[in-house]
Amino acid sequence: MCCVLISVIVKAQFSHEESSCKQISDLEQEQWVKSKSPLSSAAINNNDIVYHRCYWEVDPSVNYIKGSITTFFKPTVTGFNKIEFDFVSSFTINSVFYHSVSLTYTQQSSADLLTITFPSTIPKGALDSLTINYEGQPSGNGFGSFVQTNHQGAPIIWTLSEPFGAKTWWPCKQNLADKIDSIDVFVKTPQINRVASNGILVSENLSGTNKIFHWKSRYPIAAYLVAIGVTNYDSYSDFVPLQTGSLQVLNYVYPENLSSAKASTPDIIKIIQLFDSLLIDYPFAKEKYGHAQIGWAGGMEHQTMSFMGGFGLSLMAHECAHQWFGDYITCGSWEDIWLNEGFATYFEWLNTERYFPDEWRNGLPNIVKSITSQPGGSVLCDDTTSVSRIFDSRLSYSKGGYLLRMLRWKIGDVAFYKALKNYLKDAALKNKFAKTPQLISHCEVSSGQDLTKFFDQWYYKQGYPSYQLRWSQSGSALTLTLSQTTSHSSVSFFEMPVPVKLAGKDGDSTVVLNHIFSGQIFNFSLHFSASKVFIDPDLKLLSANNTVYGFNDQDLKTLEVVLFPNPAHERIYISGIPAGVLQEELSITDVLGRTVYVDNTKTIVSGDIEINTGLLPTGVYIVRLHTEIGTRNFRFVKK
Ligand SMILES: [Zn+2]
Repeated sequence: MCCVLISVIVKAQFSHEESSCKQISDLEQEQWVKSKSPLSSAAINNNDIVYHRCYWEVDPSVNYIKGSITTFFKPTVTGFNKIEFDFVSSFTINSVFYHSVSLTYTQQSSADLLTITFPSTIPKGALDSLTINYEGQPSGNGFGSFVQTNHQGAPIIWTLSEPFGAKTWWPCKQNLADKIDSIDVFVKTPQINRVASNGILVSENLSGTNKIFHWKSRYPIAAYLVAIGVTNYDSYSDFVPLQTGSLQVLNYVYPENLSSAKASTPDIIKIIQLFDSLLIDYPFAKEKYGHAQIGWAGGMEHQTMSFMGGFGLSLMAHECAHQWFGDYITCGSWEDIWLNEGFATYFEWLNTERYFPDEWRNGLPNIVKSITSQPGGSVLCDDTTSVSRIFDSRLSYSKGGYLLRMLRWKIGDVAFYKALKNYLKDAALKNKFAKTPQLISHCEVSSGQDLTKFFDQWYYKQGYPSYQLRWSQSGSALTLTLSQTTSHSSVSFFEMPVPVKLAGKDGDSTVVLNHIFSGQIFNFSLHFSASKVFIDPDLKLLSANNTVYGFNDQDLKTLEVVLFPNPAHERIYISGIPAGVLQEELSITDVLGRTVYVDNTKTIVSGDIEINTGLLPTGVYIVRLHTEIGTRNFRFVKK
């Protein structure tokens, strides 16, 4: 999912998006807070959902749905005698049929739970089915799970169930443990409309003044990814040439936006080609990819048909990347939402980097600035009852995306892409669900590195480092001292390879410091004279408020260092020392050799030293300034 607000950082720089929608996002989150039962799923997971045949009747000019859901299931426990569905209690249930017999049921409104008891137990593993007939006015929650509105006077209904909204318009098991193996979706609606949904459009047949659209999908799908969009859509296709053949991208757009959409959507071709080349083949190639326009200023990655508020490049890339990360492999709990959103964000960035490298470079500092705008916050979602925390743009999206950028830097391109491919090919994960430790193990296998500390720092815990680098060069001997503070107490030290660029008029060079403790000293031989030193110039790492101090072949004796004013009154100044030089001791003695002032070790920041002399008796004094680049004595008179 991508609210346009969420991509605001990138949008500001990359300017491929629609207008911002903060108010919409705020309203939606407010709406969610007011709604009850923010539970992922209350239904007992005692069966495997094999198939749903969904039949819905909707007229987009009316906020109403009538449905008939046939569910094929296999009990996964012995003694199975009841089945539960996540389903809000506000609907009228007209009947529940099992083998042509009407069954009784109970509804628990506090848990949005529908429980149906069978006349006798069904054996473990036996395929069976039942049908629920219902109707009513959907309540809608989350990001607007069932929305009835209009565009330029034409009525529209669309659904957007992530994270907990499927139960507000159809009875299903909306957990993150059991995908529906296949679905058929039938929608009956006034014939002026078209229906967008998952999979392949099998037929559209007239039925009086209505049409019945039949979509089918034979790929496993999570309940929150099942969706319908119903309005007076125009449709056309783009085709993506791939090594495995041509992939259809079916676009359902508002008639009033047909020409602008046709100008934008062909960008999906290069997006899919890029992702295909970096990852595995598009995972739903036997069916299609598609876009269906909706009135929400964002996008939602419904499997094989993303619902789109607009057709900007970044939004199209983000929703398309979700087909691999989110749909093909779905986060196994909302705590792991970054496996959807961090990945979609990172691949959205890679797409921008590939096709708009200048804009990418210019926009990157703003991404870092936004993530580090607060000292804490983990990529791990630590409150899965809060929709705003699950979809926190700074943490689940941007910091999650940056975690992947840093992982790639740490383990290298080859191991990084190999890990992602192995993750996507893992039989235990593909078409199923994944949790973060399963991703970590693929990264460890492909890289041969122990990544416990890396993920502990960047996934489980909070904050980011600030680096302090001091450098000095004498001849070809270069010394770098790297220290670190952290923004959040949960991590006392971020262990990372830190790139440092050294530049001078006769050359430049980048070294990587394997930073394992603060104050660590690194010695190098450098065959040109460095005049400038940069920490992490390409922003491989997440860090902020870094400082660099240093100097080259300096000797205090040869520098023009002066003390003034002399004679002195209230204070004296010593100027001309290079910023960053370490002052080891500064002392003042009077004519009798008595020490009247001492200032200990510190880094000279501005190049000026200021000393308060107001309390000294009148007389003659000697200042001794001892630094790492030499010692100087000065004489002054206090008046
Ligand atoms: Zn997303």
